[in-house]
Amino acid sequence: MNVGVLGSGQLGRMLGLAGLPLGVQSRFFDRAGGQMNGSGQAEALPAPAAAAGPCTLGSFEDEDALCRWAQGLDAVTYEFENVPVGAARVVATVAPVWPPPAALEVSQDRIAEKTLFNRLGIPTPVFAAVDNLADLEEGLARTGLPAVLKTRRGGYDGKGQVVLREPQQAAWALGAVAPQRRSGEAADLIVEQMVPFQRELSILAARGADGACAFYPLVENEHGAGILRLSVAPARGLNAAVQGLAQEYARRVLQELAYVGVMALELFEMPSGLLANEMAPRVHNSGHWTIEGAATSQFENHVRTVVGWPLGAASMRPARGAGAMLNLIGSAPDTRALLALPDTHVHLYGKTPRPGRKLGHVTIVASDHGALESRLAAARALIVASAT
Ligand code: AMP
Repeated sequence: MNVGVLGSGQLGRMLGLAGLPLGVQSRFFDRAGGQMNGSGQAEALPAPAAAAGPCTLGSFEDEDALCRWAQGLDAVTYEFENVPVGAARVVATVAPVWPPPAALEVSQDRIAEKTLFNRLGIPTPVFAAVDNLADLEEGLARTGLPAVLKTRRGGYDGKGQVVLREPQQAAWALGAVAPQRRSGEAADLIVEQMVPFQRELSILAARGADGACAFYPLVENEHGAGILRLSVAPARGLNAAVQGLAQEYARRVLQELAYVGVMALELFEMPSGLLANEMAPRVHNSGHWTIEGAATSQFENHVRTVVGWPLGAASMRPARGAGAMLNLIGSAPDTRALLALPDTHVHLYGKTPRPGRKLGHVTIVASDHGALESRLAAARALIVASAT
C-alpha cells in the first residue's frame, strides 16, 4: 500500500513511521520552501516527514503537480488542517482522500464548524459571526462579557484572538484581530461567549470505511501561551458518563461527515456537561501518548482506516492505567536523563531549536495516575532544567 500525505511536519513523520511495520509506504507533498511554522515563516528543510518517506515540494495551487504526485497512491490523507480544500479535491480525482475534503472544509471555518455542532445537538459556547462593528456589538449582546473575538479562518495556537471584558473595547478588539482590513471589507471574525470551563478535554476518535468507530479515553489538556504543554490520559477523575457523552458527540460528527480516519474533538468541561470548541480532521497533538499508552496508536489507526483496513482497539494497553504527553518546546531536552526515568519515551522531530517551536514530545506511562504524577513531576523538572 502507498499512502500520500499532504503536509510534511511531525504528524506526517509519525504517520509515515506507523505505516512502515504494516507495509504501508508514505510519500509527502508540501509547499516549496517547506512547512510553514506557527508564525507563517517557512521552516528550514529537511521537513520532519522527510525521514519517513520521499517529500515532493510544490504549490498546493499547482493541480498538475498534485495529480502527478498522487498517481499510483492507494489513499491520500493530510496532516494539517490548513491544506487548501481545493488541493484535497484535486487530489481526490486521482486517489481517494480521507478524511473527506468536506471535513477539512468545515474545520477551516469556525462558524461552519460550530453551526454543524449545534445542528447535531452538540452544545458550544454562544457565538455570532462578525464582519463589522455593528455585528460585534450585536454579537456581544448575545454572548455577554467576557467574550473572545477570533479570526474565523486560519487561527492557531490562540493566535488571532482577543478577550473583551468591557463593551467599550469593541472597536479596539476589531482592530486588533483584523488589523489589515481595508474600510468596507468584511472582517471575517467570530465572537464567542468566554466560558468559565473547569478544564480542557479532547477526545480522539477513529472511524473505518465500514462505519466501525473506536474512541480513545478522554484526554485532559493544559496550555501555556496558547501552545499545548501537557496531556493526561485518561483525564484525571474521569467518569463513564462524561466519556460516554464525549463519544456520543464525536460519533455524531463522524457519521454526519461519513468520516474515515482519526479526528480530534476539543471540548470544554463545564459543571453542566461538555461544550465543543473545535475539531481537527487529523491525528492530534493530544493523542501522541497513544504511541506507548494505547493498544493501537492514533497514527496506526489513521493509517489503517485510510487504506480500508480494520480499526485497532483504542483502549489503554494492559497494565497501563495512565499516560501523559509533555511537549518539548523551544529547546532540546536532556534525552539521556529523560530516558533514565521509568516508562518514559522521547520522540524528537528532527527540527532545529527555536523559541516557541515544538521540537518533540515525551510520553510517560504508568499503572495508575498516582504513579504517573511522580514520573511526570520528574520529567517536567528535567524539561524545565534544559529549557533554562
Ligand atoms: P482555540 O484557538 O479556539 O482552540 O482557542 C485557544 C484557547 O483559548 C483554547 O484552548 C481555550 O483555552 C481558550 N478559549 C477559546 N475559546 C474560548 C471560549 N469560548 N471560552 C473560554 N476559553 C476559550
